[in-house]
Amino acid sequence: MHYSAYHSVDVINGEGTRCTLFVSGCEHACKGCYNQSTWRVDSGHVFTQALEDQIIADLTDTRISRRGLSLSGGDPLHPANVETILHLVKRVKRECPDKDIWLWSGYQLDELSEAQQAVVALVDVLIDGKFEQENADPALLWRGSSNQIIHRFTRE
Ligand code: SF4
Repeated sequence: MHYSAYHSVDVINGEGTRCTLFVSGCEHACKGCYNQSTWRVDSGHVFTQALEDQIIADLTDTRISRRGLSLSGGDPLHPANVETILHLVKRVKRECPDKDIWLWSGYQLDELSEAQQAVVALVDVLIDGKFEQENADPALLWRGSSNQIIHRFTRE
């Protein structure tokens, strides 16, 4: 997997202070996409074991408390990313059980493959759907256009 950016302290993408990873790879080609440089799966940088370890270290850092991890892109559920993302979310849930995971995807919840569903089963908040320029609204929180849905999963 490749990624375009990692922010170890982020207060924009999701609730609270967070770590945010923008992965590379997106096949949705939404008109008006502000992140076209992330469309190619091999754009940006290689996602390494060192960065995975850094994310865990940042989430457990007691000097700056993070509420959780945000996964955006690009599309974290792109078929080329889903295996690495599943490994990452499993590790976060195992080693940082008090942190929440938010994930943005252009795929809709009801059209996910089995592999994509396995990831979503471990996230707390999914914002799904393509960006639609005709439904764009800068006043919306956490999403770019009104067709996108914020799914909050309540898990025991
Ligand atoms: S899903 Fe997101 S990154 Fe992909 S084309 Fe649409 S707006 Fe751009």
